[in-house]
Amino acid sequence: MSLIIQKFGGTSVSNSDSLKTVAKRITECKDAGNEVVVVVSAMGSSTDELIELASELSNEPSPREMDMLLSAGERITMSLLAIHLNNLGYECFSLTGSQAGIITSSRHGMAEIEEITGERVKEGIEKGKIVIVAGFQGVNKETREITTLGRGGSDATAVALAASLKADRCEIYTDVDGVYSADPRIIKEAKLIDEITYDEMLEMASSGARVLMSRSVEFGRRYNVPIIVKSTFTNNKGTIVKEKTMEEAIVRGVTHNDKETKFTLFGVPDQPGIAGKVFSPLSEGGIIVDMIVQNVSKDSKTDISFTAPSDQKEEVMKILTELSKELDAEGADSDIEIGRVSIIGAGMKAESGVASKMFSILGKNKINIGMISTSPIRISCVIPKDDMTKAIEALHQEFISK
Ligand code: ASP
Ligand code: MG
Repeated sequence: MSLIIQKFGGTSVSNSDSLKTVAKRITECKDAGNEVVVVVSAMGSSTDELIELASELSNEPSPREMDMLLSAGERITMSLLAIHLNNLGYECFSLTGSQAGIITSSRHGMAEIEEITGERVKEGIEKGKIVIVAGFQGVNKETREITTLGRGGSDATAVALAASLKADRCEIYTDVDGVYSADPRIIKEAKLIDEITYDEMLEMASSGARVLMSRSVEFGRRYNVPIIVKSTFTNNKGTIVKEKTMEEAIVRGVTHNDKETKFTLFGVPDQPGIAGKVFSPLSEGGIIVDMIVQNVSKDSKTDISFTAPSDQKEEVMKILTELSKELDAEGADSDIEIGRVSIIGAGMKAESGVASKMFSILGKNKINIGMISTSPIRISCVIPKDDMTKAIEALHQEFISK
């Protein structure tokens, strides 16, 4: 008998009809003789709607109340699904993150899972029941407050639960057939990837592929939980994320991200310790800093640029304006008209010339590169936002379709 975690995203549970489709997936798995634990997201775009409602009432809603509000979204789905499964004659019950023993750090809106006690989940499994857990939420032991894990956090709930229950696999059901070699809405020839390594998936997720939240992939890698991404609505076998794949690709995928802003702090005194002084307040403020470039210094002054999510723009500018005064720098600025394209593949570790090929392709297409960053299995370039589609098309054509 296998223990399988099935997670259903917002678009898979957007109304009662889709809940019925989801229930079929669950009962088929259960009827085949497996133990099933289900994790659900909030229905459709209800999380966005709740955020919108709050913003109509306050410009700065308290993070605690936002977590109380947003955690309600998943509770609606879990109970409706349990009601339906009970009605079909299955023994099933739902649990909030807190009831399921998902213990997190105390940071509202961005909490990290620290531990899963999962007693009530295990009790349910032992009794042969289907247990449904609300994704995206947990509880902090010290503050005794409900927390949420950040957008897309139900994936993290699912994989972390799979790890802690030592499940045989974690199935992530969504509205696409799996992980593609590029965003299929932009690239018609994008290929469905059969197998991908944790490392590659992590790079894909953190550079813009939005099928899986990157923290969930980290859990998968750390505890070696096979993750299968597939569609709720078709019977395609989806993409499996695991330690090693049969074939190693030089470039497995092309990703993009147009939700980042480039920030620059001008004329910072070029002295030891300055980078620490700039980036400490940013990290304390929960800013997710990504690419960093420090320019060559002139007259003992230098410019420091970095990218961060556009929705953190106001916080970043506030911190930079203060820093500029404190460090006697020459001011701060932001540029939202940027996009990032990346190529990812474990095979590039052993292959030379991949980066230069990428730069040449962009150059041939008259696309100016503003910033570059690399990891052993990824190369990213910041380019003008308007050139992004052209860049993805050209890179996909050269590295994948050819
Ligand atoms: N409902 C949350 C969100 O929309 C969590 C999730 O869907 O995973 O971000
Ligand atoms: Mg979601």
